[in-house]
Amino acid sequence: MFKKVLIANRGEIALRVIRACRELGIATVAVFSEADRESLHVRFADDDVCIGPPPARDSYLKIPQLIAAAEITGADAIHPGYGFLSERAEFAEIVAASNITFIGPTPDQIRQMGDKAQARRLAQEAGVPTVPGTPGPVADVDDALACARELGFPVIIKAAAGGGGKGMRVAQSEEDFGRHFQLARSEALAAFANDAVYLEKYLARPRHVEIQVMGDTHGRVAHLNERDCSVQRRHQKLIEEAPSPALTAETRSAMGAAAVKLAKRIDYVGAGTVEFLLDTDGSFYFMEMNTRIQVEHPVTEMTCGFDLVKEQIRVAAGERMEIPKGGLRLRGHAIECRVNAEDPARNFQPCPGLVTTFHPPGGPGVRVDTHLYAGYTVPPYYDSLIAKVIVHGNDRTEALARMHQALDGFIIEGVTTTIPFLGRVLMHPAFQTGDVDTKFLERESHLMQEPA
Ligand code: ADP
Repeated sequence: MFKKVLIANRGEIALRVIRACRELGIATVAVFSEADRESLHVRFADDDVCIGPPPARDSYLKIPQLIAAAEITGADAIHPGYGFLSERAEFAEIVAASNITFIGPTPDQIRQMGDKAQARRLAQEAGVPTVPGTPGPVADVDDALACARELGFPVIIKAAAGGGGKGMRVAQSEEDFGRHFQLARSEALAAFANDAVYLEKYLARPRHVEIQVMGDTHGRVAHLNERDCSVQRRHQKLIEEAPSPALTAETRSAMGAAAVKLAKRIDYVGAGTVEFLLDTDGSFYFMEMNTRIQVEHPVTEMTCGFDLVKEQIRVAAGERMEIPKGGLRLRGHAIECRVNAEDPARNFQPCPGLVTTFHPPGGPGVRVDTHLYAGYTVPPYYDSLIAKVIVHGNDRTEALARMHQALDGFIIEGVTTTIPFLGRVLMHPAFQTGDVDTKFLERESHLMQEPA
């Protein structure tokens, strides 16, 4: 087992990894930018190293600084968390070349799934259904338009190197296709230094349902059921739950088997997520695979009674997976709400600043993953996620009531948060009955405003 793990991340996920390391008896190293000096992950780690000025490109994305920090502190492994360098194959490569273990899949596996057009091909080869679309990247706007006509509008133009909703545009008709195509291309170039794009048919009312997978170096791949992430704003997840209110036992096992088949095809090692769109008729289509731990992993942990981050660390150290052969039994229902320092009434504009009061909720089945405390200043440089509230109940009704009281009892003063907005979404009849799709919030945009 590792002696010391460096966490190449910040915020709640850095704390999450530190906690897992502690339970495993592993020492930890925090890295931080000058804006994060007062951060909890710095305080809780055994060692800490400042890696540069506030902007991520000068600190959390600086590979030489991270490697130097690991070498100086004697870390024998690096956990990338999510975001930042977690899906950067060359980072995993440099880590390995420095004789440090990367806690995650191999550079090849990251590369194969990181190119979404290639991942689609891999899925097709593995016999996993994909959304109807182009076989690979399109050559130019004329080629693309011809493909779009064949698929039928609306279509979605996606960056092959995409992620985080960037370089993704929906064209409703031929008239606006050219404009969206160019926009997707230039966004992709700016965000990923790669302007390759491909097309998919844009489904009208899909749900986003994803399967958590885990693979070890002994050739085993298992899945830990699904998460439903259909409540989204601009293709970004806001609320996630497990199990999915829309999945039958048969579809669950078919989707799980499809995810495992794809992961096995590349001998996947570590935690990963295979994302699908579930159509209204019950058919599902592969969308992409994320080769890292995800923000919403706690809903799986709560319903499977299993620590995914500890398992990531164990399998990276070469140990056999602890997930039993028959998988893990689902227990009850879990929901996660992402709390952001943002103002929904102002187009979700980020609201960084000083947190004056902080009182997280508690009680049975309530978990809060956060790096906040009273007196902490939310810096303006990074993602505005400030807390995740996760609840577990014996069934969905209990989980809903629990989330409701948890959000009600969550007091954060000093910065504007999305808590009241999340409360309104939760109370919406469609969410109450579990009858939502990825365009639910688009239709119900009045939820962004405080009722008069
Ligand atoms: P990213 O990697 O940028 O997160 P994804 O490919 O995972 O992008 O898609 C993100 C979201 O966009 C999905 O959860 C879904 O809401 C929407 N989406 C993507 N592809 C389609 C599609 N073909 N039809 C309808 N919605 C889609």
